[in-house]
Amino acid sequence: APARDLLHDTMVLPPVAQPPERAAMEARDVSAWFGSHKVLERVSLVIPAGQVTALIGPSGCGKSTFLRILNRMHELVPSAALAGQVLLEGEDIYDPGRRVTHARRHVGMVFQKPNPFPAMSIQDNVTAGLALTGVRVSARERADLVEECLTRAGLWSEVKDRLRAPGGGLSGGQQQRLCIARSLAVRPRVLLMDEPCSALDPTSTRRVEETIAALRGEVTIVIVTHNMQQAARVSDRCAFFLAEAGTPGGIVEHGPTPAMFGTPRDQRTSDYVNGRF
Ligand code: ADP
Ligand code: MG
Repeated sequence: APARDLLHDTMVLPPVAQPPERAAMEARDVSAWFGSHKVLERVSLVIPAGQVTALIGPSGCGKSTFLRILNRMHELVPSAALAGQVLLEGEDIYDPGRRVTHARRHVGMVFQKPNPFPAMSIQDNVTAGLALTGVRVSARERADLVEECLTRAGLWSEVKDRLRAPGGGLSGGQQQRLCIARSLAVRPRVLLMDEPCSALDPTSTRRVEETIAALRGEVTIVIVTHNMQQAARVSDRCAFFLAEAGTPGGIVEHGPTPAMFGTPRDQRTSDYVNGRF
């Protein structure tokens, strides 16, 4: 089916009520290396607050690297280097005076493979990130926070009677929503999701997509996906990454999802969203 038909799939998103296009994050001329291997070349992207931005493009073009740059996980790789600026609400997260915990707290991450602490209870999984990021809550607040975050992650009704059961006993899709709840507990401004449904069956994928749709407007979301149907269903905007033979990755085109699927300007975007490579 041509890419424009994907836009007629069910989950039609209403416009997000936000002050006009406030940027939650902005990448300015970001380049990245692993050793001498340059993997991103001068990537600039504005990520509007409250919206869902999808990063699309073939494997190996630097989408995950770009995502990890947005919360300073890139620097965990010893050979990694970076140039450019990343702004969170106008402030550079790489400013030498700023701690790495600033980025990690305000910019959460959900990975491809659900990674709850398997032996830890469901409720303790939700609050596991608080101590790591220096957020303090009382015992009473903790119970409320667990309920709130599990509700926002679309998991509360399924687990409310077994909050003390181990997180590892949940299904894969439930584990992924538990990881979303854990990310939400520190009240991030931005949630990064790296192919969050790639390891899930279609039903679980749908539940995670519904969770993303429900969070939209409250949390800024950046999602990497290889699934064009999913990008069409959940995102407001798309950025198409490409690394052409022997060159570092970059953004070919970005814009509102209907335009990216319906009227792409670049032939390579059209070819990609229509499944021609
Ligand atoms: P994508 O997520 O789009 O598939 P990645 O960001 O994972 O792309 O990878 C971009 C490039 O960086 C690839 O050439 C990949 O081999 C390389 N790369 C990714 N992670 C590392 C790493 N830890 N060490 C060295 N090279 C890496
Ligand atoms: Mg990746």
